[in-house]
Amino acid sequence: MLKKLFQSFRPPVRGPQHKRTTPEVINSGQHSLQRGQFSRHAVSIVERLQNAGYQAYLVGGCVRDQLLGITPKDFDVATSATPEQVRAEFRNARIIGRRFKLVHIHFGRDIIEVATFRANHSETEEDSHTSSRNESGRILRDNVYGTLEEDAQRRDFTINALYYDPVSERILDYANGVHDIRNRLIRLIGDPTQRYQEDPVRMLRAVRFAAKLNFGIEKHTVQPIRSMAKMLREIPSARLFEETLKLFLSGHAADTFEMLVDLQLFEPLFPASAEALEEHPTYTHTLISQALINTDLRIKQGKPVTPAFLFAAMLWPALPARILRLQSRGMPPIPAMNEAAHELIAEQCQRIAIPKRFTLPIREIWDMQERLPRRSGKRADQLLDNPRFRAGYDFLLLRESAGEETDGLGQWWTDYQDSNDSERRDMIRDLGSRDEGAAGPRKRKRSPGKRKRADSAADE
Ligand code: ATP
Ligand code: MG
Repeated sequence: MLKKLFQSFRPPVRGPQHKRTTPEVINSGQHSLQRGQFSRHAVSIVERLQNAGYQAYLVGGCVRDQLLGITPKDFDVATSATPEQVRAEFRNARIIGRRFKLVHIHFGRDIIEVATFRANHSETEEDSHTSSRNESGRILRDNVYGTLEEDAQRRDFTINALYYDPVSERILDYANGVHDIRNRLIRLIGDPTQRYQEDPVRMLRAVRFAAKLNFGIEKHTVQPIRSMAKMLREIPSARLFEETLKLFLSGHAADTFEMLVDLQLFEPLFPASAEALEEHPTYTHTLISQALINTDLRIKQGKPVTPAFLFAAMLWPALPARILRLQSRGMPPIPAMNEAAHELIAEQCQRIAIPKRFTLPIREIWDMQERLPRRSGKRADQLLDNPRFRAGYDFLLLRESAGEETDGLGQWWTDYQDSNDSERRDMIRDLGSRDEGAAGPRKRKRSPGKRKRADSAADE
């Protein structure tokens, strides 16, 4: 299909490092894009900016994805107008400044992002107050406006540097991106080592796009990654949280995980899990990849996925070593488990800033693993009513699928959910006769009245 899309023009001649100052112009009729495929809001923004005398294009992921027949996630516009000039043209525009100053134009719930052309930093610009780098070359601030050509060169991959003008229906290709789309290759623009030094997150983006698009990573682009992977440790943990969600919630998490491990990018993201992967490769690998396969499937089926479950699975294999270490220092099992969980999450948050709204459910999913074996009396029914039951039960099945020995606990809970009241009472009675050790000695010491209060308090 791709061959057909692009058969009407010759492969471009490659210059050194695939940089060009004049673009390959691909006219309408020579490519498969049509203005009607793009968000009408985005197209109208481009038209309006062009009518006001500015250059404006659709750019990045939306052009790339449309060429590949994939529905784009969002539509980005690049323009010669400054953010202030853009805002002056639209009533529904707001300037936002996270890493860069951008304009968001709102159409109800739809938001189109408009970015002003930016230039890459040259060495001589280093003393400029608008840009700065640290000693390893990483770009810390990046607010230098530039020309269209410069904007193309500072983008990460050739396939992300395609500009589509919906008015003339032409594509401008400054980096031979169309050639790489045809050959299904992720290729950095410019010198890979330098581009990763400027922004190590590009290593993760290479993996993300390779998995999402099912592309290969071009050999010069892949070559420096293993030795530069450690540079991810310098990236602010909040940014890595955002990137990690994109890596694992895009529907291709299982492939992404394999690539991250292979390219040694997993260790700087999840150091404790990487250690567990070394110590217990089969178990850790099975548990994590099974969790990711399930996640990918749920996304395909349009079911909701929670980052908490994902992080709970990523970190679970790293827990036992920590629990044992604390126990060997004389801590009893339950406090050791709690302390290990607390330490592990705190440590992980140094790399990836997982917000509280997710760390709490991680703990609840783990705590549930402690409680699922204790089913006697009213406990089973109380657990069923717990809002975390479903996640805890799914997590138990995940552990079993990775080979954890639970004495048929998952099956028991599956049956229990499928049973009526009297069958459930029988199941609980049968437990008693099997001497359910996990019910614990504490229970037997309590009077019935006291137990009731203690149990309901524990569930609050
Ligand atoms: P998708 O939105 O489908 O994940 P995308 O290509 O649109 O993919 P974004 O993260 O939305 O990715 O970025 C938009 C564009 O900005 C990219 O296509 C790329 O041209 C440029 N870009 C984003 N991040 C970087 C980066 N770290 N270095 C250089 N260019 C970047
Ligand atoms: Mg995008």
